[in-house]
Amino acid sequence: KTNAPVLENFWMPFTANRQFKAAPRLLAAAEGMYYTDVDGNRVLDGTAGLWCCNAGHGRRKIAQAVERQLATLDYAPTFQMGHPIAFDFAAKLAATAPGGADAKLDRIFFTGSGSESVDTALKIAIAYQRAIGQGTRTRIIGREKGYHGVGFGGISVGGLVNNRRVFPHIPADHMRHTLDVERNAFSRGIPAHGVELADDLERLVQLHGAETIAAVIVEPMSGSAGVILPPKGYLEKLRATADKYGILLIFDEVITGFGRLGTPFAVDYFGVVPDLVTAAKGLTNGAIPMGAVFASRKVHDELMIGPDNAIELFHGYTYSGHPVACAAGLATLEIYEEERLLTRASDLAEYWQDALHSLKGLPSVIDIRNLGLVGAIELAPRDGAPGTRAYDVFVDCFKKGLLIRVTGDIIALSPPLMIEKDQIDTIVSTIADALKRAA
Ligand code: PMP
Repeated sequence: KTNAPVLENFWMPFTANRQFKAAPRLLAAAEGMYYTDVDGNRVLDGTAGLWCCNAGHGRRKIAQAVERQLATLDYAPTFQMGHPIAFDFAAKLAATAPGGADAKLDRIFFTGSGSESVDTALKIAIAYQRAIGQGTRTRIIGREKGYHGVGFGGISVGGLVNNRRVFPHIPADHMRHTLDVERNAFSRGIPAHGVELADDLERLVQLHGAETIAAVIVEPMSGSAGVILPPKGYLEKLRATADKYGILLIFDEVITGFGRLGTPFAVDYFGVVPDLVTAAKGLTNGAIPMGAVFASRKVHDELMIGPDNAIELFHGYTYSGHPVACAAGLATLEIYEEERLLTRASDLAEYWQDALHSLKGLPSVIDIRNLGLVGAIELAPRDGAPGTRAYDVFVDCFKKGLLIRVTGDIIALSPPLMIEKDQIDTIVSTIADALKRAA
């Protein structure tokens, strides 16, 4: 009853709701680790919203900063103009930029979302190649099952079949692998096998010619494909191949940025330094839509300081560096710092890993993957009805007061980073019970 008018009036691509003919569950409030639904039930957030509320919900500091900023300067253009808070926020972000001071990935472009960050990074990569006299390099290599948002740029380099179904005309140059989940089943943390999959990049270079390739974009840890971890040495190999052929490497850190793996960025976790890093989500703790691209000084300086190159690249959004989003972002970074949240996942990683892997052996569980405070539990699909088993687990968990995320038959977990051990236990025991019922 509560849901009927919503479904009529609010057109949202709730794919799962359509697939399973179910109304969305309505969340009305949130505080700390918990949502409250419209019926007053408390629901433990096992997904940090959508991988974004890393510091939990209802943070007063962010709310106050937003209110203050709205009352002071609600909006100002960033074309030929600026405002101090955008510079303050950029300076603070630069101080925690991916890879630390040595990586020099501290030139920041603000966007309004992860998808815009991806578009921006792709455009910067091609513009950079053109600026250094490599104008034939227009191709961007993505990866099968890669997810880079839903903009045209993102789907053109993304490899999730569902996202491309309606757009078969958009060309795709993908490395033809999804990383090797089967061979690494139940691996704890980074899988041992599969580094040779990175040879795909070399093969694509041979196929297309290095002179056509501007960049390669990957999620250092695939999120939307169902939490797929890079084999040991894989990202290093991509970096080496990219270097060999003058190809830029882009890490899409929309999910992994801001502490998810126990380091500020995946760049810090893996020790592999790309040329561009996309971010969003945790940038403002999910409170206000915003994204960012971190560019290396090399790339930035070529475009912004080099001879008139910046004039060729027309780019910028109405809401680039929106003052209210910057205020939210600044407050978010302060919370991360004060509560040491950017490294908290590393303190909890072992406990989290053991807790998740205790589900091994339960009915239908065919793989468990984990890294930092990310987890995936992959289920065997039911005959002829893929996705229904995980969806049943999702519904069951929600009824019992736990929010998880399911894509296909994979349960993905990414709780707020301030989670406590007893809440980890609750997540795991709730899922265990639901798995038994969904067998
Ligand atoms: N890249 C990655 C790796 C993502 O996970 C997402 C969102 N889940 C995006 C890009 C797109 O971000 P947004 O939904 O904010 O546009």
